[in-house]
Amino acid sequence: MPRPCPVCGKDVPEDPRPPSYPFCSPRCGLVDLGDWLSGRHAISEDLPDSEGAPAAAEGEPE
Ligand SMILES: [Zn+2]
Repeated sequence: MPRPCPVCGKDVPEDPRPPSYPFCSPRCGLVDLGDWLSGRHAISEDLPDSEGAPAAAEGEPE
C-alpha cells in the first residue's frame, strides 16, 4: 500500500518505488534534506538553484 510523502503528504507508490523513495519526488527529498541541514523542519517554498552543501558559511553553532 502506498505511504504518504513525509514532506507533502502525497501518496508514494511502493511498487515500483520511485528513485526518490520515501519521497514522492526528488524535490521533496531535497526539501526534507535541506530542512535538516539548516537545523529546522519547515517546508521551504523555494529551493536555491545552487547545488552542493554550504561550507559552514553561516557559522551557526548547530
Ligand atoms: Zn512529496
